[in-house]
Amino acid sequence: MRVLVINCGSSSIKYQLLDMKDERPLAKGLLERIGIAGSKLTHKKDDMKLTFERDIADHTEGLSWIISILTSKEDGVIKDVSEIQAVGHRVVHGGELFASSVLIDDRVIKEIEANSFLAPLHNPPNIEGILAAKKILPETPQVGVFDTAFHQSMEEKAYLYAIPRKYYKQYKVRRYGFHGTSHRYVAARTAQIMGKPLKDLKIITVHIGNGASIAAVKFGRSIDTSMGFTPLEGLVMGTRSGDLDPAIVLFLQEQESLSIREVNNLLNKESGMLGLTEGKFSDMRDIEERAIQGDNLCKVAHDVYEYRIAKYIGAYVAAMNGVDAITFTAGVGENSPHLRENVVNKYLGYLGITLDNEKNSKRGQEVFISTPESRTAVLVVPTNEELVIARDTREIVEKGIRELSMF
Ligand code: ADP
Repeated sequence: MRVLVINCGSSSIKYQLLDMKDERPLAKGLLERIGIAGSKLTHKKDDMKLTFERDIADHTEGLSWIISILTSKEDGVIKDVSEIQAVGHRVVHGGELFASSVLIDDRVIKEIEANSFLAPLHNPPNIEGILAAKKILPETPQVGVFDTAFHQSMEEKAYLYAIPRKYYKQYKVRRYGFHGTSHRYVAARTAQIMGKPLKDLKIITVHIGNGASIAAVKFGRSIDTSMGFTPLEGLVMGTRSGDLDPAIVLFLQEQESLSIREVNNLLNKESGMLGLTEGKFSDMRDIEERAIQGDNLCKVAHDVYEYRIAKYIGAYVAAMNGVDAITFTAGVGENSPHLRENVVNKYLGYLGITLDNEKNSKRGQEVFISTPESRTAVLVVPTNEELVIARDTREIVEKGIRELSMF
């Protein structure tokens, strides 16, 4: 089966076509600047990278263009559109309605729309992508895979905030958590690499990219995660603050006469590593390079970043009453030996971990970075959200079921 995986943003479509015989990506790419002059498509197959430019008005036109390239004689990888046997969509917010991946029909589209008030920037473009695919491939089954679904296993004590309960009832204000597809993949892969059943393990998955979150996965279920009602809570991120005293928001609003939009921008776009480095750097590579050279601003920003990760690991060891494995993933987690070394050596000695420096120097590959004698295993597992979306899509379509039972 060939599955087209689509991830739509407000002005972008990220895609990957996978051959599920060997789970190999045949082609992948990114269309940017939809609805903005100078739309650009970057298309990769094998080792080739091609770029195309053309003005694209909306997601339907964008997806048509992508499919015409996938099927083109010169740059394509399939002969005919009918070779796409299913489409898998990444959908950001499933709210409390979706605890697993589902076959998309009109009712599901309505329910995703109903969740848009929780993710006004993300769900509407996801719906655009679904409608575009329905228009272009009306006979092809489509599946929705939600970023929040894996964390629906959290109990009330983990997902409720201590504010008047009526706001949970009225507006569904609660912890949802995000990056669920990644945490789910990385936890399952960790168990496989360790050669133990997932249902016997307590795993902490540390997804640190531009966005960052951490999850406590106990016996295969997410029992807590650091992102909350929105992706703003938790770890320090590239430009997002992560945790702070909510009274700071009120204080700054008053002091600086900020509107809701301005505060939102401040916390999501001007904070995190960018804020800590006085607006200079949000990319971890820039910060680490300077921190290692002795730049104090970057060093302190890095200290704050790694300290927050260590605190969450401690919290989740407590939440699970122990831990068997800690796994790093995503851009920073997969590629930064420096960050991993600092977190482990400065803060995790109490878990009986000794780092294997040679293995920790590797980037972007599956590896144990703790020594075999360590009481707790520490691993790096590159994440692969597209593969999870494609696998869920295949399973639902092949089995002819409406939804996957995740737990
Ligand atoms: P996103 O959340 O956008 O998917 P990614 O998972 O791609 O983000 O991660 C991007 C982050 O990974 C950036 O901050 C980047 O600096 C960081 N990163 C990539 N390579 C390295 C590296 N070699 N060392 C440190 N950080 C890295």
